[in-house]
Amino acid sequence: MRYQSYAYGQNHWERDPDLHHVLAHYWPGFTAHEDELRRFGALAGREVYEVAYHVDHDAPPVLVMHDLDGNRVDRVRLSPAQEALLRELAPMNRPPYEGGRWLHHYALGYLVADPGLYCILTITNQTAYVIHKYAPEFAEWKEKLLRGAFWGATWMTEIQGGSDLGANTLQAVRDGDAWRLDGEKYFCSGAGLTDVALVTARPEGAPAGPKGLALFLVPRINRAGALNYHVRRLKDKSATRAVPSGEVEFRGSEAFQVGEAEHGIYYTLEVLTVSRLANAIAGMGIARKAHLEVLERVQRRRSFGQLLVNHPLIRRDLTDMAVRVAGGLVLGFHAADRFEKAWEERPPYTARYHYARFLSHLAKNRTADHAAEVTRLAMELFGGIGFLEEYAVARWHREALITPIWEGPSNIQALDLLEAMHKKRAHEAFLAEFIPILEKAGTHEARAAREVIEGTLARLADSEPEAAQWYAKDATIRLADAAQVGLLYQLAETAGERYARLAALYARRFLLGEEYPAWALREPAVWSA
Ligand SMILES: Cc1cc2nc3c(=O)[nH]c(=O)nc-3n(C[C@H](O)[C@H](O)[C@H](O)COP(=O)(O)OP(=O)(O)OC[C@H]3O[C@@H](n4cnc5c(N)ncnc54)[C@H](O)[C@@H]3O)c2cc1C
Repeated sequence: MRYQSYAYGQNHWERDPDLHHVLAHYWPGFTAHEDELRRFGALAGREVYEVAYHVDHDAPPVLVMHDLDGNRVDRVRLSPAQEALLRELAPMNRPPYEGGRWLHHYALGYLVADPGLYCILTITNQTAYVIHKYAPEFAEWKEKLLRGAFWGATWMTEIQGGSDLGANTLQAVRDGDAWRLDGEKYFCSGAGLTDVALVTARPEGAPAGPKGLALFLVPRINRAGALNYHVRRLKDKSATRAVPSGEVEFRGSEAFQVGEAEHGIYYTLEVLTVSRLANAIAGMGIARKAHLEVLERVQRRRSFGQLLVNHPLIRRDLTDMAVRVAGGLVLGFHAADRFEKAWEERPPYTARYHYARFLSHLAKNRTADHAAEVTRLAMELFGGIGFLEEYAVARWHREALITPIWEGPSNIQALDLLEAMHKKRAHEAFLAEFIPILEKAGTHEARAAREVIEGTLARLADSEPEAAQWYAKDATIRLADAAQVGLLYQLAETAGERYARLAALYARRFLLGEEYPAWALREPAVWSA
């Protein structure tokens, strides 16, 4: 890889001052784990880089459908390098379940970033989460999931729709102390790899719509020792190739109900929050990898007799990257921090939980835009070789493009945000938190952010339902942008003036619709880290 990437071989923890400052703000205790973070940073810059590229280009998972005796086995064969790496990474899911922090987990996820590998770890984490909170009788599975002896999965999407979970038709019929599932799931990450999956299904007699869905744990092998479902095929994806994603057929498959059937949709939304936060933080991790590649490139490549970094427009593009990377990172960790404070709640939830969900929509949606744009710009700044699959940078853009799609595309984040506002009044906590932050910052840009928040919320409140949906996506972006301005100002209090500069730049560009002001041209501190 050293001929294909500049970021390869670097310690990605040591190269990331933004991450250090964000963790110091939200998780001061991180210093006790610094050795682990440094070790992960080295792993992220070497083995993760090597294996993710290798799997993507040369060794994607292969579905083995029959054994030598003709029996269906439906198991994937992974590259041995990927298997070994996954086992090494598996303990990163442990901290929240062992008295530690979600921020600890997400910091490691940010360093790994690769969405194929991190998807496998996240769906495993989500399965452990559900057992931990709602199905303690399966604690033995949880232990295996947390030590990399088992892999989990979360299968909700059916062929007729992923966004509209209420349209799920997979049927569950009671059979003694268990259930039998019949039907199909159409997008199943972890298919052929997973040992136990979380699956949404509709128990017989349950009402139509999302409230009629229950959540089940479905092992690959049933209690009689037989294969419990079939993997019809793996999908041919443009990225995230490290995670096998397939189609699964359930025919009388044995399943175990999680908690109370009528709370299934709430459990499902809880696990979605875990993965939406992972998506947000790893999305910024992906952006950061591309950014690291570019920071090195502009110091090496010359044009018109100068290093690239000395051209004003290159500095402008580096500023764009620095602003988005820092803004998205602090928003992702802020949302994760609020989730951490609410995650032990159960239905019916308090306002604290609804607010955490509200922030997860803002973060998931806007970081995905940042990841897609930063990685696209990175390709462009590499020029023609940025477009070549031979080198590392093109893959990051392909990988980034999943972040706006899975875990709910932008329209779905916007509709869920609207619901959290109208039904749960979650925006009140947002106002209560962000208006004081922006008032304290007191700058012209902070005032602009306050006006954006108030104007955006007022427009949604004044709109009839269809118009409110029309405005909801723009609102999800504008509220996230105003939040990033506030959070960068807040970060400046502990991490220094650079973050107040980034806050002002962010507001100029994304709230006021101006070009980044040219004063940044002569401030390498803004764009060179
Ligand atoms: C690589 C990969 C892995 C995946 N892994 C899994 C997995 O493990 N488990 C799983 O359950 N799913 C998985 N998915 C599925 C993924 O979560 C869905 O594709 C996604 O949620 C969107 O659902 P859909 O594809 O059915 O699109 P649709 O629901 O058909 O939506 C299509 C478009 O319409 C928009 N839309 C839908 N409804 C509305 C509305 N009311 N108003 C406005 N716009 C709307 C959506 O935003 C979207 O842009 C995976 C997908 C991919 C690509």
